[in-house]
Amino acid sequence: MLNFKYYSPTSIIFGKESTAGLGAQLSPEIKTVMFHYGGGSIKQSGLYVQVFSILKEKGVKVIELGGVEPNPKLSLVKEGITLCRENQVDLILAVGGGSVIDSAKAISVGVKYDGEVWDFFMGKAQPQSCVPLGVILTLPATGSETSPNTVVTNEEGLLKRGMKSDLIRPVFAILSPELTLTLPEHQTFAGVMDILSHVFERYFTTTGHVDVTDYMCEGVMKATIENAYKLRQNPDDYDARAEIMLAGTIAHNGILGVGRLEDWASHRIAHEITALYGTTHGVTLAVIFPAWMKYVSEEQPEKFVQFAKRVFDVSEADFRSTAEIANEGIRRFEAFLTEMGLPKSFKEAGLPSDQLDLMTEKASIFGALGGYRKLEVSDIKAIYELAL
Ligand code: NAP
Ligand code: FE
Repeated sequence: MLNFKYYSPTSIIFGKESTAGLGAQLSPEIKTVMFHYGGGSIKQSGLYVQVFSILKEKGVKVIELGGVEPNPKLSLVKEGITLCRENQVDLILAVGGGSVIDSAKAISVGVKYDGEVWDFFMGKAQPQSCVPLGVILTLPATGSETSPNTVVTNEEGLLKRGMKSDLIRPVFAILSPELTLTLPEHQTFAGVMDILSHVFERYFTTTGHVDVTDYMCEGVMKATIENAYKLRQNPDDYDARAEIMLAGTIAHNGILGVGRLEDWASHRIAHEITALYGTTHGVTLAVIFPAWMKYVSEEQPEKFVQFAKRVFDVSEADFRSTAEIANEGIRRFEAFLTEMGLPKSFKEAGLPSDQLDLMTEKASIFGALGGYRKLEVSDIKAIYELAL
């Protein structure tokens, strides 16, 4: 196990009707709130009206900025920065999924920075301060409600880039599982894939002696898979929604990655698909992960054997070699994706295959990727090809 420092300052308010507790999270010094949201979903569900009335009751001034698109765009972030500066906003309240939260995070650091906010995403600057953030989550997937990350797309050059800073971890996150009952099936299971992928990025490591976090990762994976099956049967199952929501937060608040090297190659490789085609984040991960697993397990099957045995209950006795056991785990994972209605390849996702060179070039712009196995440019191209 490696040495580590763990920091997760977000207050989590979890449970049925917990949105009603929003008022209690707003301290008296908060006079002006920017209410940030996406398209129509919170208006249809009634959440918009509920949030507005709580804010009004508290007597805070509300600055509204809706219209965050899935895979949030830099242009709206810039609009938000201007609005926050003009109105001296004390708190940004993000109500929605990962896109709304990420947009809010980028605004929060941009407000306090004299240069271009994109500098943070290109590694040219590190934020020194930010406007505090609060979250009401409507889509369990990204873990952005407690994570130190944000991912934004710059429309110029279609660059989808992330940045990381402990400053942008939200102050509070309200997680009310019933808000997720309105999710379309596609978003529910794309979210499940994103949750699993955040565990994979940490689980598949070359760091040894990480038993506690290995078992924690395996527990979160198993619970996510079991409850995904329950939601496939009955999307109105509140308890399964609650389990998936908790899994989404635990998967990405950093605790599963303590003391170990993380990977993150698959996220970078998948981001380039979204950047070009606007494909849902979780769907691109379903397309890339099986290919990444097959590619890296060929040389390093050890962790995949453990994954097969502990997560998918593959019996060693039924197979002749470690490679066969590893492959069976990956095969069962692919079967799970199919049962969740997720595509496992470019073809199944209906994506074109003529931009692999461009995606490879963009994914490797900062050099080699990954931790479990270092991926050079030719490896990245090979993974895109395996995913066709
Ligand atoms: P999202 O892009 O926030 O939302 C997807 C769609 O779901 C939107 O159309 C939204 O509609 C709808 N929606 C959300 N909640 C709903 C509900 N309760 N009922 C009905 N519809 C609902 O999806 P996401 O997967 O949460 O976020 C994806 C983004 O996060 C990507 O850009 C990805 O790269 C990023 N990401 C960030 C992190 C991180 O740590 N920061 C980690 C992984 C991924 P409305 O717009 O109408 O609300
Ligand atoms: Fe993700």
